[in-house]
Amino acid sequence: MLKLARYIVFGLLLAGSVSVGADVPRDPYRHFFQDSFGDFSEELARAKAEGVDTIWDRYAALGTQCKVGELGICCTVCHLGPCNLGLPGSKRPQVGVCGATIHTVASRRLARDMAAGSAAHSDHGRSVANLLLQAARGEAPGYEIKDEAGTTKSLELLLKHYPSPDTWDRLLDGYIKETNHDHELIALYRLSEDVGSLREPRQYIDMAQALVVGGYAIEGQRIMEKGMSKDIFSGEDLTRAQRTLDSAKRRADEERKKLGGADAALAATKSGEDAYTLGKLYFSDGKYAKSAAAMRKAIATPGLEDVDDAHMQLGIALARDGKKADAIKAFDGIKDPKFAEVARLWKLRLR
Ligand code: SF4
Repeated sequence: MLKLARYIVFGLLLAGSVSVGADVPRDPYRHFFQDSFGDFSEELARAKAEGVDTIWDRYAALGTQCKVGELGICCTVCHLGPCNLGLPGSKRPQVGVCGATIHTVASRRLARDMAAGSAAHSDHGRSVANLLLQAARGEAPGYEIKDEAGTTKSLELLLKHYPSPDTWDRLLDGYIKETNHDHELIALYRLSEDVGSLREPRQYIDMAQALVVGGYAIEGQRIMEKGMSKDIFSGEDLTRAQRTLDSAKRRADEERKKLGGADAALAATKSGEDAYTLGKLYFSDGKYAKSAAAMRKAIATPGLEDVDDAHMQLGIALARDGKKADAIKAFDGIKDPKFAEVARLWKLRLR
């Protein structure tokens, strides 16, 4: 009976036969659109001329709309309702069965409608996000990003949240292509190895060659053997890889001979250059703690020529030795702006 009475009142409301005392603006959407997008009377005129219905035509065609519905105070959240509440100032109750007031019902409905509406369109946002990601990776035919600086910045931002090997690969590849400095190249390739983006035959060969030339033949041999063990070389690449490995092995044997007296030589030396060379030797052999100690001595001794590279070697050695905070301090000691850029990538990795 109660329910029937409620339907009757609701019906009267719909018909506009009951004076409810609320001033509900007609056609509120038009104001919203005009405020948001400016005047669009030209488009409306064109739609009319072409016989295309707009939301305003359909709105007008419906005649008197339910004022309760327009205010969002008809609640269907649970099965005690629907609670079709009274308009402000009317005699009809303005509290639902559960005790929710018109303010609660209106705000709750708005929040739920917005959540449902956003969810319904989340697939569009997802498609756009995926397309942008593919474009950033160069995997979206027809889309090209010309802003290199912007791309780098975006990839770095992406790395903060999704540090995947693919994202690192894309970022480091840009830096590696740009650099023609051996020390930068070595630091970038080492980072590439540590983040898991060293995968291509070309990368293994280039890295190993840079290491051998730079005085890290034992490391160069390790890198080539690692690449070989993955069975990624074939044809021309295989020939180059074998040649690079053979050359690395020869030079690595020479380095190994020096390792025997390295501890005593480091303890005795008063030359920053000698300490630096011994630090490189330890690094090449994967003795990162010893390499860090030698680099510290090299930096502390006056007369060292390439102080920046000593800081870079120290930072990477400490990073590989699990001493993140000390590594970051070492990277901060690099003064050359371009080399400091590479150090910044290492710090990004250590965050
Ligand atoms: S106002 Fe309360 S009782 Fe009524 S339908 Fe909504 S949640 Fe249920």
